[in-house]
Amino acid sequence: VHTLRLLLGDQLNAAHSWFRETDPGVLYVIAELPQEVDYVVHHVQKVCAFFAAMKSFADAIRKAGHEVLHLTLDDTQEFADLPTLLNHLCGRHQVRRFEYQRPDEYRLLQQMEQLKLGERIDIAQVDTEHFLLPFAEISDHFVRGEHLTMENFYRRMRKRFDILMQDGAPLGGKWNFDSENRNKIKAEQLAEIPDPLCFDNDVSVILERLRRYAVKTFGVAHERLLWPVTRRQALQLLQHFCERCLPQFGRFQDAMTDAVEAQWSLYHSRLSFALNTKMLYPMQVIRAALERYEQAEGDISLPQIEGFVRQILGWREYVRGVYWANMPEYMQSNALDAGRRLPHYFWDGDTHMRCVSKVVGQSLQYAYAHHIQRLMVTGNFCLLTGIDPDQVDQWYLGVYVDAIEWVEAPNTRGMSQFADGGLIATKPYVSGGAYIQRMSDYCKGCRYDVKARTGANACPFNSLYWRFIERHRELLQNNPRLAMIYRSWERFSQEQRREILAQAEDYLERIEAL
Ligand code: FAD
Ligand code: SF4
Repeated sequence: VHTLRLLLGDQLNAAHSWFRETDPGVLYVIAELPQEVDYVVHHVQKVCAFFAAMKSFADAIRKAGHEVLHLTLDDTQEFADLPTLLNHLCGRHQVRRFEYQRPDEYRLLQQMEQLKLGERIDIAQVDTEHFLLPFAEISDHFVRGEHLTMENFYRRMRKRFDILMQDGAPLGGKWNFDSENRNKIKAEQLAEIPDPLCFDNDVSVILERLRRYAVKTFGVAHERLLWPVTRRQALQLLQHFCERCLPQFGRFQDAMTDAVEAQWSLYHSRLSFALNTKMLYPMQVIRAALERYEQAEGDISLPQIEGFVRQILGWREYVRGVYWANMPEYMQSNALDAGRRLPHYFWDGDTHMRCVSKVVGQSLQYAYAHHIQRLMVTGNFCLLTGIDPDQVDQWYLGVYVDAIEWVEAPNTRGMSQFADGGLIATKPYVSGGAYIQRMSDYCKGCRYDVKARTGANACPFNSLYWRFIERHRELLQNNPRLAMIYRSWERFSQEQRREILAQAEDYLERIEAL
C-alpha cells in the first residue's frame, strides 16, 4: 500500500473520480469513530443510518475491486480521535501518501487541515465532487456578514444549469410559485396521501455495538431501520418520490397533519439523508424529477416541480454558501441575546401543546420532521421563548437523520432562530397559533384554545408572539415587512397589551409545565 484514502461517513459518493480506477496500492479507510458519536447526542436512528450506510458503501467499493478497511467502534475505541487513528494506520501500512476529501463540516475541516503525519508522508485534499456550486466559487456569491437573497442566488443557479428555462426566461414566465404552495390538506384529501417507502435494514448488530460502548443516544430505536442505506435504496426512494409524491409536492409542501399517522412524511421526498451522505448527487435528483415532470405531459403542474427544484438547486446550495462564508463566527451568533434552557419536552414530547408534542413525537419516532414542522412549530416555539441558540442547534443536530452542521446550522441558527441577525431570513419566522391552525390539524383536540390570547387555556404561541414583537421592537420595527404587525399591536388597548404580556411572562415562568 502506498496511499491511504479516508472516507468520512457523509462521503459515500460512488461516482467520485477516486473510484474510476482500481489500484491495489490504494487503501480506503472508512471508520466508525467515537468522536463522531459524541460531539453531540444523536438520535439512535441517525447513528444507525450513518453506520449502516458506511458499511454498505465499504462493501460496494470492495466488490468493485478496491482495497477497503472498514473499522467499527470495536476497532477504533482505543484511538482518542481521528488524527490519532490516521497516524496509526499510516504507520502500520507504511504509506507515503494520505488523501482525503474536503470535509463539509468546519470542525472536521480544521481537524484535517491541522493533521500531522510526519515528514515522510504527503497529504493531499481533494474535492467531494458533490455540490453544484464549486467550493472555490462560494466567495464569488457569498460575502461574510452580508445578506444574499436566496431568490437571487436561485435564479443564477437556474440560469447557470439551464433548469426550467426557456429562451433565457423562466419557464411559465415566473421564477417562483411559492404562493401556490401553501395549501392545507383537507379531510377528503387525506386518503390520497401515499404510504412512505420504508426500508427494512437490519441494524441489530450496530445497536449492540452502541450498547457495548454505552454510546449516549436518544429517540426510538428500531432494529429494522427504515432509512435508505445503499445507493440502490436511495434510488428506489427517489423513484418513489417522483411517482407518488411529486405530483402534489409543491401544493402541500407547507401542510401539517397528524390525521394519518401512517403517512407521516406526506408528499415530502425524505431524500435529505441520501443526499447529505452523497449517496445521491443533487443534479441526479433534479434530473429524475424533471424527467418525471416531462413524461407526465401536464399531469404534474409547473409549481410542483419548481417547488422541488428550488429546494435542491436553491436552498440546499444557498445554506452551504452562507455556512462557509461565515464560519466559524456563525456558531457564536446570538443576535437576539437568547439564553433560556430547552424545555424537557423536546426530549420526551410530553407537553400539552399538541403541535409541539406531535412534531417532537414524530421526530423521536422517525428522526424526521419536514421543513415547516421544524421551522414553524419547534423552531418558532424556541424563537418565541428565547431558547439559547447553542441548545437549539444541538437539538436539531442530534435529532434529525439528515443533520450535518453545514446544512443544520444555517437553517436552525439562521433561518429559524434569527441568531445571525438576518443573514438568511429577512425577518424572523415567528407566528402565533393562527398560522399553525391554518396549516395543520394539530389545534383540534389541543388542551389550549388557539383563538385565545389570554386566560387559563390560551394558546401559548399567541401571547408569546406579541411579547416577541414588543421585546424586539428596536431591532425589528423599521423592517418594512413587519410594519403592519407593529400597527396591529398598537391597535390593542393598553390594558389588553398589558394582559397579553403578563400572560406571556406567566407562561415563560412555567415553561417546563406547558
Ligand atoms: P423535501 O421537502 O422533500 O425537500 C427536498 C430536498 O430539498 C431535501 O431533501 C433537502 O435536500 C432540500 N432542502 C429543502 N429545504 C432545504 C433547506 N432549507 N436547506 C437545505 N436543503 C433543503 N436539512 C438538512 O438536510 N439537514 C438538517 O440538519 C436540517 N436542519 C433543519 C433545521 C431547521 C430548523 C429547519 C427549519 C430546516 C432544516 N433542514 C435541514 C431543511 C429541511 O427541513 C430538510 O432538508 C427537509 O425537511 C428534509 O426532508 P425531505 O428530504 O423530505 O425534504
Ligand atoms: Fe399548538 Fe396552540 Fe394549536 Fe395547541 S392551540 S396545537 S399549542 S398552536
